[in-house]
Formats: sequence, C-alpha cells, structure tokens
Amino acid sequence: MHDAVVIGAGPIGCYTAYQLAREGFDVLVLEKNGSFTHPPACTGIIGVEAFERFNLPEDSILSSIRDILFFSPSGLALTFCPGSTQAFVVDRIKFDRRLRELALKNGASIRLGTSCKEIQIKDTHVEIGVSGTEENIKAKAVVIASGFNRRLSENLGLGNTSDYIQGVQTEVKVEGVKETRVYVGNDIAPGSFAWVVGLENGRARIGLTTKHNASIFLRRFLENPLLRGKIKEKGAILYKLIPIGSLKRTYSDRMLVVGEAAGLVKTTTHGGIYYGLISSQLAVETLKEAFRRGDFGSRIMKRYEGRWRERLGAEIKTGYRLRRFFSHLRDEQIDKFFKIAMNDGVMDIVYQKVRFDWHGNLIFSLVRHSPIKKYFSKWR
Ligand SMILES: Cc1cc2nc3c(=O)[nH]c(=O)nc-3n(C[C@H](O)[C@H](O)[C@H](O)COP(=O)(O)OP(=O)(O)OC[C@H]3O[C@@H](n4cnc5c(N)ncnc54)[C@H](O)[C@@H]3O)c2cc1C
Repeated sequence: MHDAVVIGAGPIGCYTAYQLAREGFDVLVLEKNGSFTHPPACTGIIGVEAFERFNLPEDSILSSIRDILFFSPSGLALTFCPGSTQAFVVDRIKFDRRLRELALKNGASIRLGTSCKEIQIKDTHVEIGVSGTEENIKAKAVVIASGFNRRLSENLGLGNTSDYIQGVQTEVKVEGVKETRVYVGNDIAPGSFAWVVGLENGRARIGLTTKHNASIFLRRFLENPLLRGKIKEKGAILYKLIPIGSLKRTYSDRMLVVGEAAGLVKTTTHGGIYYGLISSQLAVETLKEAFRRGDFGSRIMKRYEGRWRERLGAEIKTGYRLRRFFSHLRDEQIDKFFKIAMNDGVMDIVYQKVRFDWHGNLIFSLVRHSPIKKYFSKWR
C-alpha cells in the first residue's frame, strides 16, 4: 500500500510527488505516456514569481520576457515596457524532465506507460485500476494531476469545468522576431488572442487560443503579412484543449485534484503552470494534515478546496468575466478600447497595478477608471 498515488507525470503531478516524497511519504506516479520525446502544446511562459516561490529548474530557461507589444485588429500598437523581466520561457521537455528527476531524487517512483482506468474509494484506502494488469494499485490517498480530462472528472463525480477553449502552437525558425507580441482581432483569433514569442536562439513560438477551428486560424495567422517573410522554417502544429474555470468539486474522500485537471488555469491568458504549482502546494499541505490525523475523509480534504479558492478563486472568476466581455466584441469595438488605452491615463494604471500572474487587482482598477467604465457600460 502506497501512501499516495499521483495520476499524471506532467509538471504538476511531478511537483506534487516531489513535495510528498520530500516529506518521507511513499509516492507512486502513474503516467500513461511511455516516453517524453515530444514537446507538449505549451509556450512555456512562466512568471518570475513562480521561479522565486518554487524549486523550478533554471537550466530549462531559454529566454526572458520583458516588454510586450499588443496589436489591435486595425494595427494600433500598445507597448508595455515595465523595465524588468516579467517571465521566462522554458524548454518544456527539459523543464518536465527536471521535475521528474526531482521527484525521483526525493524518493518517488514513476511508472510510465501506465494509464489509470478506474479509481475506487474504499473506507480504508483507494484502489486504482490501471492498463496492462488486472491487479489494482492501493494507496491511502490519490492525487489527480492528469491535465484536462473531462471524462475522468465526470466519472469520479467531480463535475466539469464551466468552459474550455482550443489552444494551438508551433515553433518556427524566424528572422527579425525578438520580442513578445500579442494580437487580437476576430480574423486572427476570434474571441481570444494570438501570440508571437521570440526566443533568443533565432526561433519563435507562435500560437493562439480560440473556441473553434484553432489550427485553421493558426495556419492562416502564419501566412499573415505581419509574419510573412519572417518565418524561415515551419514546425508542427500542436493542439490541446484548455479548461476555463475550475471543476465544481476538486476533492472527495481520499482524493484531491490539482493543476489543469482541476481547471486551475489563468482565465485571462490560459497559463496553467503557476496556478497548478500553487494548487499542488496547497494539496500537499492538506494531505500532510490528513496523514497526521490518519483521517482522509471529505471534511479534511475539503480544506484543500477552501485554500485554493481563497488564493485563486477571485482571480479565476474575474478573469473569466473579463474574457467573456471581450469575446463578444466586434473588431471596431476592440480598436476603440486600444484608443482609450493609448490615451486617458490607462497605461499609468497598468504600470501601477500590473503583476504578471495576478490580474484581478488591475481589472478592478481599470473598470473603476472613468473612460473604461463608460466603455464597459456601453458595450456590456
Ligand atoms: C497552446 C498552449 C500554450 C500554453 N502555454 C502556456 C504557457 O506559456 N505557460 C503556462 O503556464 N501554461 C501554458 N499552457 C498550459 C499548460 O501547458 C498546462 O496548464 C500545463 O501543462 C498543465 O500541467 P499539468 O501537469 O496540470 O497537466 P499536463 O501537463 O497535461 O500533464 C498531465 C499528465 O497526465 C498524464 N495523464 C493523463 N491522463 C492519465 C491517465 N488516465 N493515467 C495516467 N496518466 C495520465 C498525461 O499523459 C500528462 O503527462 C499552454 C497550453 C496550450 C494548449
């Protein structure tokens, strides 16, 4: 009988296993993939704050992000130059490998090529049915870190995330693209945005999120005059669904759900690594209490949900409301927003309030600012 089984050896599953193993618990990670040779669909942008707070592998950093240029549908440009590094771009294959190594070094085991098929919660333990064997794996507790997986969360009676969006990305060889650019507009990424992140090695990650046909929009974006001639060598287009909003419930007896599996992703930008790490830390804190008391019932496990809601709940809700508002706007209405932001003291508020991973405070300050307030009440 293991102390804990973690489902999924993504960054959040491995970080959870590392923290539990470091405390002396017997932890097994189950991962359905047999190897990790392909990069995941992820741009790998992780804020400086995450590197300060967590034990993350600095040798996976490829470049840093400082200034960001935002482009409206008609080409109006808004420049955000905060004067300091805001985030890093990591090599996700290396980042994930280092986190697996960290978990292993601290005593966790990882079983690759093993898919979790079923979880049964018993009075005294959890039984996990896996691919390739009739024998169930037993543990005192299970942590679900399987990424976005609607079927699994529904089967476990945890409900589903309120919404989701398609995310696509490619890495290309480029000339003359060094900075980070964000493009909005219904011809580029309806209801959402596209990004170009120049790396320091002559390559760039280009991607977008949108509700439907994301791959078609990305192919079209790569042919856009904004990029044409700059791309010297194309790469594969990687696709993934991203949850928007959390699961209705992220715990039950002997079970916690963390990271993207729980829908704990920034609703403004869809970045999931930092909020996932925070949820992982809060899950481990809760499990430590459960082990101390020898009680893995819902009453104790529920504390995890209270903790992440206190830390992340308002951010997730506020970002979701903002995104819903912007997703319905026509291009000329988005342009109007850029015009207001380029004048009217809006960027002063942005510089005062912005934090790379926390947008709620900035959103509240902006909607109280008179020109923006008028804009929102006009188009709501
Ligand atoms: C185009 C795109 C760009 C993105 N860019 C960024 C970015 O720049 N910054 C950022 O922070 N986030 C970004 N994200 C989101 C980020 O990639 C995810 O939030 C992050 O990978 C979530 O980590 P995780 O460990 O929770 O899940 P995952 O990385 O999905 O890992 C889950 C693991 O569980 C395994 N698994 C699943 N089901 C089972 C099962 N039944 N049994 C065993 N194993 C299982 C999977 O194989 C996988 O290895 C992006 C997403 C997309 C789509």
